[in-house]
Amino acid sequence: MITEEYLMQKLSRTMSEKLLRHARGVADTAEKLAKKYGTDPFKARIAGLLHDIARDFDDNEMLQRAKKYNLTVSEYGFAMPLLLHGPVAAVMAREDYGINDQEILNAIALHTVGSEYMSQLDKIIFVADKIEPNRKHAGVEGIRRQANVNLEAALLSCFDESIRYVLKMGFLLHPTSVKARNSLLVDQGSFRK
Ligand code: FE
Ligand code: FE
Repeated sequence: MITEEYLMQKLSRTMSEKLLRHARGVADTAEKLAKKYGTDPFKARIAGLLHDIARDFDDNEMLQRAKKYNLTVSEYGFAMPLLLHGPVAAVMAREDYGINDQEILNAIALHTVGSEYMSQLDKIIFVADKIEPNRKHAGVEGIRRQANVNLEAALLSCFDESIRYVLKMGFLLHPTSVKARNSLLVDQGSFRK
C-alpha cells in the first residue's frame, strides 16, 4: 500500500517548491470535493499530489517521454507538447511511483485537456486543479462557490475559462476540450440556468 509520506518524500526530491505547493493544494481540495461528492478521498489525494509530476519538462523531454512510453501523440501534442503532461504523468505515476489504480491514473491523464467521458474522480481533479488555494485567477471565487454545490457546473466553468484563456493567449485550442465542454452542456441540459 502506497502511503502519502512515501509519495511526498519522493516528490520533494523531484518537484520545485512552487509546484509541490500547488500539488498539495490540489490534493487538499480534491479530498474535500471527494468527500462531498461521494468518491474515494484517498484516491483523490493521490491523484492530486501526482497530477503535475511531468509539468516542468521542456518540450523536448516531454516528447521523448511520450515516445518512450508509447503514447499516441496527436498533431496537437507535437505542436504543443505541454498538452502531454497529463498522459506522461499518468505513466510516470505507474512506473516510478507504483500507482496501479486505473481510476487514479485516468484522472491524472485527463487533467490537462479533459474528455467527453469523465468519471467523478476525473472531474474532481480537473476542478481542484483550477480552484486550489494557491490559484488567484479572476473568476476563481465563483468557481469555488459552484464547486460546493454542483460539480458539473464548476467543471463547465473551468472549461469555459480555460478555453477563453487559450483564445486570449493565442494558444492552440485542443478539440477535446471543446468536445468535453459541449458534452457537459448536452448531458446536463439546462442545469446551469
Ligand atoms: Fe497540469
Ligand atoms: Fe496542476
